[in-house]
Amino acid sequence: MHINQREIFLKHIGQTSDSPFMLEIERAEGIYMYSTDQKKYIDLIAGVSVSCLGHCHPKVVKAVQEQVEKYMHLMVYGEYIEHPQTRYAKMLTDFLPSNLNCVYFVNSGSEANEAALKLSKRYTGRPKIISMVNAYHGSTSGAMSVLGNEYFKNSFRPLLPGIDFIRFNEFDDLSRIDRSVACVIVEPVQAEAGIILPENNYLQALKNRCTETGTLLIFDEVQTGFGRLGEWFAFMKYNVVPDILCIAKAMGGGMPIGALVSDKKILDVFQSDPVLGHITTFGGHPVSAAAACATLETLKSEKIIENVNSLGKAFTGRLRHKKIKQIRGAGLFLAVELENTDLNLQFIKKLRKQGVVTDWFIFHDQAFRIAPPLIITEKQIDEACEIIIKTLDEL
Ligand code: PMP
Repeated sequence: MHINQREIFLKHIGQTSDSPFMLEIERAEGIYMYSTDQKKYIDLIAGVSVSCLGHCHPKVVKAVQEQVEKYMHLMVYGEYIEHPQTRYAKMLTDFLPSNLNCVYFVNSGSEANEAALKLSKRYTGRPKIISMVNAYHGSTSGAMSVLGNEYFKNSFRPLLPGIDFIRFNEFDDLSRIDRSVACVIVEPVQAEAGIILPENNYLQALKNRCTETGTLLIFDEVQTGFGRLGEWFAFMKYNVVPDILCIAKAMGGGMPIGALVSDKKILDVFQSDPVLGHITTFGGHPVSAAAACATLETLKSEKIIENVNSLGKAFTGRLRHKKIKQIRGAGLFLAVELENTDLNLQFIKKLRKQGVVTDWFIFHDQAFRIAPPLIITEKQIDEACEIIIKTLDEL
């Protein structure tokens, strides 16, 4: 039975690398995943910054069950008044700045970014887009067009024209944003580049330049949103409000959903010239939206984000080892840089065998990722760090 599933996985399921993790998980709860061969794993990836409340949080499970019994899919996004969506939109916009007052629901991070790029072109009537070197915004053709790494996109050309790349944190490059540019899309903390934080008020300078040139500023908070950095959103941490906020991943607490949030006067241009400017069958699916409501409510009521910075410090305090060169990041979003790539890749494999799951970054394979569920406890951090240090000792 066990071998059979592995064979089917390799033979009949499309693969994206020649070395998948191949963990066969039977159930998952909190920060732990349990495999069919009765092993217990600590999850330091959280499905790539998704499971903010841990796996199968009871409040999210309950919200899903209740919604499934009422209705599932009814109609394409935006035609019917679906209460999970209206409840979520009100709850979210109530605590965002006044220009982020309208939510457009989609299915994923890529789709949120795709829609945001289209919206910016349509709203400004301008042809150009600026993105950042080493940016990751998703895998669909539009999102891949703004991906800042040649290796990962070159085979898929031709991609979208009119895209220019500037360097994150480089003030000199800001002059390339001019009145022909519809939008700048940026991760306020670059994730797959290996967690690069903005320096010296870079985001404020970027915002100023966008304001001067009438260019829309899109923050891709697909990975940084919902408390990962110890604040609800990176834009709150750095005090710079974007024109369009893109969210997904942790939004649904384990269910697939994303959104772009902007001013209603901007989002409303999707209504005309042409009508149906962005449409999506499953965007804001009621079951996912119900899960998103429960996630937002639980993050708030249980004050989970308030602990994130001290939990992050617990990791950085305990992870002292001569093979660790640097730890970068904020909150529970950390990149642990080892001496070299070979060591890091060996380490990740060995650590998994020891029952702790981590990964490298798409554009930076010399560091491993610490992005566990935000509900991790200090005791569980001790448990994880002990295994990490022991594994580094053994390499
Ligand atoms: N933007 C960022 C910053 C991401 O990290 C990711 C996914 N890793 C995406 C966009 C794409 O999201 P999705 O996979 O849901 O399309």
